[in-house]
Amino acid sequence: MEIKKIECPTEITLSQYIDHDIDIQRIVDIEIHISKCDECLKKVRRLTEYHESLKALKAKSEFFECYKNSNEDILSMPAASSANNNSVAIATTKDGKYTIKVVPFLHENSFMIEVQVLDKNLHGTLIIENEDGVIIKAPIVNGFAREEIHNRIDLKDVSIRVEVEK
Ligand SMILES: [Zn+2]
Repeated sequence: MEIKKIECPTEITLSQYIDHDIDIQRIVDIEIHISKCDECLKKVRRLTEYHESLKALKAKSEFFECYKNSNEDILSMPAASSANNNSVAIATTKDGKYTIKVVPFLHENSFMIEVQVLDKNLHGTLIIENEDGVIIKAPIVNGFAREEIHNRIDLKDVSIRVEVEK
């Protein structure tokens, strides 16, 4: 039988694989792939942990309303203290452009920031920054920008913007 080389699956596909939200042939393909690709295996472990954190912490989710200032959405929410006590902070900007989730990993001092861009016409790179500089800078893929951070941050008065693709 001919062995077909599969390219590394995208993070979205790996997420779907973890959630079993994908057809059985694709699951087999991915399992064959991660048995040979350390990088993807690592990604699957990270994503699995992230998904478990999400599930475990869902009950504790808190919602915050955020504020908009022209092109920049100024957030004001106590995400750092939430991260401290293992809850997920979720914020939706007032104009409904973004939903921001800060999810602490269960076993480490790191967090996943996940931003859902609700405006489907916004494409490009999403940037969250505070006065100390850029916190995350991540491409928007299928409406989501996601990045892991290792320092505890305070999301109070950070700004969020999208650098539009030219
Ligand atoms: Zn791979």
